Amino acid sequence: MSTTPETSAPPPRKRRPPRRVEVTNVQVLSPAMRRITLKGTELEGFAPEAPASYIKLIFPEPGQTEPDRPLPDAPRPKSMRTYTPLAVRPDVHEVDVDFVLHGEGPASTWAAQARVGNVLFLMGPGPGYALDKTAAEHLLIADDSALPAVENILAELPSSARVQLLVEVISADEERTLKSTAAVTAQWLPRGSDHRSAGVPLEKALRSLAIPADAKIYLACEAAAMRRIRKLLTDELGIDRKNIVGRGYWKLDTINHPDHDYGEDN
Ligand SMILES: Cc1cc2nc3c(=O)[nH]c(=O)nc-3n(C[C@H](O)[C@H](O)[C@H](O)COP(=O)(O)OP(=O)(O)OC[C@H]3O[C@@H](n4cnc5c(N)ncnc54)[C@H](O)[C@@H]3O)c2cc1C
Repeated sequence: MSTTPETSAPPPRKRRPPRRVEVTNVQVLSPAMRRITLKGTELEGFAPEAPASYIKLIFPEPGQTEPDRPLPDAPRPKSMRTYTPLAVRPDVHEVDVDFVLHGEGPASTWAAQARVGNVLFLMGPGPGYALDKTAAEHLLIADDSALPAVENILAELPSSARVQLLVEVISADEERTLKSTAAVTAQWLPRGSDHRSAGVPLEKALRSLAIPADAKIYLACEAAAMRRIRKLLTDELGIDRKNIVGRGYWKLDTINHPDHDYGEDN
């Protein structure tokens, strides 16, 4: 008699080994934003499928110059954080990542001191935003942590698309030109250095914005602000919730906020 069960659970999904990458360039984009190029032959085959996808970066622990290479399927290291692959150049095994220098945290602290030759481990990519490229109207609501996601989206939109962009930054010095063939109207909204007011400038600007009823909305910022803004859009401004994708990118007073905070989106 056969002992093979009639139905068997699928084998556990094998995680791809982390890829070793080295810093090859550090660019100062603005006082609080660094663009860091990561390069390595282990990036072979690295190909995000959608804009605003994510990667996991593993930073050195205090006292280390180089992070330990995590063993396959071992618990995730404490100093792993979520970032956006901004520009990927597969032919030369490079990816650019933009870091907000928000203050203390393994990622922000590392980025503020990053030098050519520094080593990180990179995992991913994870899924991104199912961008509707046929939609005529888009509203992108983001803070600086989601600016790379916004740049991904802007890079993929056709010239026929109209985009209203609200972006909350630490100070007016953060403003820069973003590339897109779409017709973009941008408002840069300084928050100041007190992160406790995260989301307030976005909420204020939204209340005086004319939002087309059929606009596709991507909303990504501090987690509590994302929830408040989503409610403002649906309950106060009458936007259909099916047009909104909300993502909590970080959370005040929370270390390593998870990469899958979708608020009410499931
Ligand atoms: C899908 C996804 C993509 C992301 N892409 C990017 C990206 O491309 N670039 C980027 O800079 N960030 C990005 N983030 C946000 C980033 O993961 C967090 O900001 C992360 O917490 C930074 O790690 P840290 O080690 O610096 O701080 P942590 O140790 O995680 O946090 C320490 C403290 O810092 C504060 N804090 C954390 N992040 C911020 C912030 N952005 N602004 C103000 N205060 C903060 C919190 O109060 C927290 O208590 C992304 C997040 C997600 C979910």
